[in-house]
Amino acid sequence: MLQIDRIPLFASADVLVIGGGSAGCCAAIAARQAGAGHVILVERYGFPGGTSTQMLDTFYGFFTPGEQPRKVVGGLPDRVVDALDDAGAVFLRPNTYGAGTGVNYNPERLKLVWDQLLADAGVRVLLHCTLVDAERDPAGRITGVVVFTKRGFLRIAAKRFVDASGDADLCHWAGVPYERAGDLDPAQTLTTTFRMSNVDLDAYESAGGKKMLARKMAAAVDAGTHPLPRKNGSLHKMNAAGCISTVAVRVADVDANDFEQLTAAEQEGRRQAFVYEKFFQECVPGFAGSHIIGLSHQIGVRETRRVYGEYRLTKDDCMRVARFDDRIALCGAPIEDHRASPDGKSEETVWGYIPGGDAYDVPYRTLVPRGRDELWVAGRCFSATHDAHASCRSMGQTMALGQAAGTAAALSLADGCGARDLSIEKLQAALRATGSVLETPTRVAATGAADWRKNHQA
Ligand SMILES: Cc1cc2nc3c(=O)[nH]c(=O)nc-3n(C[C@H](O)[C@H](O)[C@H](O)COP(=O)(O)OP(=O)(O)OC[C@H]3O[C@@H](n4cnc5c(N)ncnc54)[C@H](O)[C@@H]3O)c2cc1C
Repeated sequence: MLQIDRIPLFASADVLVIGGGSAGCCAAIAARQAGAGHVILVERYGFPGGTSTQMLDTFYGFFTPGEQPRKVVGGLPDRVVDALDDAGAVFLRPNTYGAGTGVNYNPERLKLVWDQLLADAGVRVLLHCTLVDAERDPAGRITGVVVFTKRGFLRIAAKRFVDASGDADLCHWAGVPYERAGDLDPAQTLTTTFRMSNVDLDAYESAGGKKMLARKMAAAVDAGTHPLPRKNGSLHKMNAAGCISTVAVRVADVDANDFEQLTAAEQEGRRQAFVYEKFFQECVPGFAGSHIIGLSHQIGVRETRRVYGEYRLTKDDCMRVARFDDRIALCGAPIEDHRASPDGKSEETVWGYIPGGDAYDVPYRTLVPRGRDELWVAGRCFSATHDAHASCRSMGQTMALGQAAGTAAALSLADGCGARDLSIEKLQAALRATGSVLETPTRVAATGAADWRKNHQA
């Protein structure tokens, strides 16, 4: 147990954001843009972006899937893509199925873009700084946090808090109730992504591309020549010539908040990646001279803790295309649930599409932990059931949720009110003023072109 009163105070903030992933970066930037004076962002790794830069290269959730896609995310997330586009580091991957049209980016460039956007907004960023405890007053209200750094333990005090740690770490240490992945439904599997260079993509495509790959994977598993963990892993071209990125590795039955289980999962993920490398080199046209050039910074964790909020988004809300007066974002992404089969031997990705290619409302109350006034959650630890989370976890949505949480935190300070008493009209007006999409657009936005600028005016 830490003796918090003996830990030196390092800084005080108006709004303190924990976790510099896509949600946390947007929350911190939005808090500053909405008028908060001193905003601090705490991130345990040496770069911002979380999953967006640790392992991925495609934003989903901006566009609904289907023949007539709609663009359902705008505002700050648009500015992120615009900045990538300015650097020539983005293209669209039109897609009518799966998670829909993806916004593909160069993840290393995105680290720089997050740095720049945070600096321009005036956010104080603390990297290599890990939250390890919460400080509370006698009424249980959070007043500060304890972080671990190479200088030792330090305290940061704040008036408002956004937990965007993905794992709801602040909520955990503050005693805020949450559901752990695996408690009620099987937890989604984990994936180490990897990238390969020197791929002859023309040879790959002319040999049959995706369909050919699926056949070859199934054949290799059935014949036992290459012990792949699944038959349906995917790959796509990257923002660099002759390079591809994969979502193929699969590690099941892991409590990703337990460091010993996570250690074993990291080791297993790396092992599987090189089984895939051999398979690609030996079996897939275009890959004979290719090699792995990068593994994800850490194994990809789809879900861990989800708090119980003032409202809990459910599968029924997604499937009935629910409308809420306090909407702060839209989501048309399908439920995409990566789960192991009951025998643990294979993976079923369970898809559930939103009826009519529509998009449901995400209510503000999913960002407010039950009974709290000083605290918001954003990103993958927001208040949702397993199924609803499996839809509303794409980065288009985590960025939009982050923007809403950061804006709400700043407005609550300005108005001297708590999270639950905030004027929804004011919050929605502030979001709309930045271009956030809060009404389902009827306009067909993505025409199939790979050009972001031609497609992003929703
Ligand atoms: C394998 C995989 C593939 C996916 N594919 C896609 C895809 O192609 N497209 C898409 O749109 N979505 C995809 N998703 C989903 C999406 O990436 C995530 O839901 C989203 O990025 C979560 O964003 P976040 O900001 O909520 O959390 P994270 O990105 O997890 O960010 C949390 C941040 O908090 C930091 N942190 C955690 N604990 C602490 C602490 N105690 N102190 C300080 N910092 C801390 C972390 O280092 C991290 O930077 C995928 C997810 C996975 C795992």
